Amino acid sequence: MALWARGAGRHSAGSPRPRPAEGTDNKEHASGTYPTTATPAAVAVIELDDFDAKDDGPDGFDLAELVLADTFEPAPEPPPPPARAETRPVPQANGTASDVDRLVNAFVATEGGRSPAVAIKEDASSSGSPIAQLVNKLVTDALAKRASDVHVEPTDGELRVRFRIDGSLVDVHSFPSSLAAPLVSRIKILANMNIVERRRPQDGQFALELDHGGVDVRVSTIATVFGEKCVMRLLDKDRSLLKLHELGMPADTHASYSKMVRSPFGMVVSAGPTGSGKTTTLYATLAEIDERARNIVTIEDPVEAVFSTVNQIQTNEQAGITFADGLRAILRQDPDVVMVGEIRDIDTARIAVQASLTGHFVLTSLHATDSVAALHRFLDMGIEAFLIASSVLGVVSQRLVRRTCPSCAAPYVPNAEEMAFYEEAGGHPKDVFLQGRGCSACAGTGYKDRIGVYEFLHMTPELRRLLVGWATQDELRRVAINQGLRTLRAEGVTLVEQDVTTISEVIRSIYSL
Ligand SMILES: [Zn+2]
Repeated sequence: MALWARGAGRHSAGSPRPRPAEGTDNKEHASGTYPTTATPAAVAVIELDDFDAKDDGPDGFDLAELVLADTFEPAPEPPPPPARAETRPVPQANGTASDVDRLVNAFVATEGGRSPAVAIKEDASSSGSPIAQLVNKLVTDALAKRASDVHVEPTDGELRVRFRIDGSLVDVHSFPSSLAAPLVSRIKILANMNIVERRRPQDGQFALELDHGGVDVRVSTIATVFGEKCVMRLLDKDRSLLKLHELGMPADTHASYSKMVRSPFGMVVSAGPTGSGKTTTLYATLAEIDERARNIVTIEDPVEAVFSTVNQIQTNEQAGITFADGLRAILRQDPDVVMVGEIRDIDTARIAVQASLTGHFVLTSLHATDSVAALHRFLDMGIEAFLIASSVLGVVSQRLVRRTCPSCAAPYVPNAEEMAFYEEAGGHPKDVFLQGRGCSACAGTGYKDRIGVYEFLHMTPELRRLLVGWATQDELRRVAINQGLRTLRAEGVTLVEQDVTTISEVIRSIYSL
């Protein structure tokens, strides 16, 4: 999932400095996977040798022993000459690699070259240390490259850094392994995690104030056989919330959809697999129907974008706020519009259906491959066909495909498999197909940004009748297509005809159809 967006300037999650435990958000408390006993401000200097020696002890590590600030002595012998950093940035992704190289070299020269022990100073001066600057630099670069996630991965013999750009991972840096522990530790300190605990998975978050604005970073760590892997998800607060028509929805689909979501009651479902942009569509829909005269309430896991005029509730299983329980409570709150982030179980499905039949408009998402499959997903959960037929107004199934990079698009000849797919899906004959070759503007991927592909199923009386009669998915699909449904595959191929994307990208993202 990468097309998330954050309402500009309406959210302030924290400061760039480590924050106390009570400053953390619901998600952190909800997960409860680690004790928030680490007090980063007190942890002045930490020798990794100490970790290794004590971490394996029967009693675990005593946090009090970490406070070594007063007793710390620099190594007596002068540091050897700076070691040469073995950074090998991937050529196509090195727009700002020289800055990164400089910071890595500075770190290796001052710290990594001295001993395997690594000192992390978390005090007023630490934000200027090479490691602290490197974290800032990685996040800044990731944002500049439109990445949604940064993966910091210890592997056999190197520390690999990858960015997820437009849904695909791209290798960005290969650092010496000696950088792994200090880099991950620095990120964990920022995220208010227990840096002594290196085996159990942890999660946390921090906010960075950068030159161009703020970014919220959600951090999770997990121990792999090569060490702790850390993933940072970036929530760019300055990225504006997309409107429906900006998501790539064709004008006629947008017009019908927009009319449908203004219905006073009934249910509209957004369907697709993980990472297909369902949340973005739900948010764009909320932005479209947000009105002062209506009480709009959401229940989400997690809340990703904040609306100033919408009552947004975050699920919290430890506090007993599941989708179903939260939804029951919401219905006692005189709502007009209820957005249920995702329907995962029959309890939630049943309450949502009943709400939509009793004068509320319900917006929700489902894991399903296409619009017809979403209807059958309700049946599979155990909801009666007549309830689905009377509550669901329509289903929007969707995928995200990457757009061909305009800076490096060049003609190419699709292979036989691609041409067979194109023709079978109804693509019109075409002299020239374009594909990105890879350039600095697209981090070498040949693609830049993504566009939504939508399949919009409008529940007609005939489809309702078929559904009540337990028609198969094939029967429903055939009738829907006869009534004008444009399938995901057909819409994807239309984008190929318009040179917006490539055949291989459509095959990749709409694999199942
Ligand atoms: Zn390019």
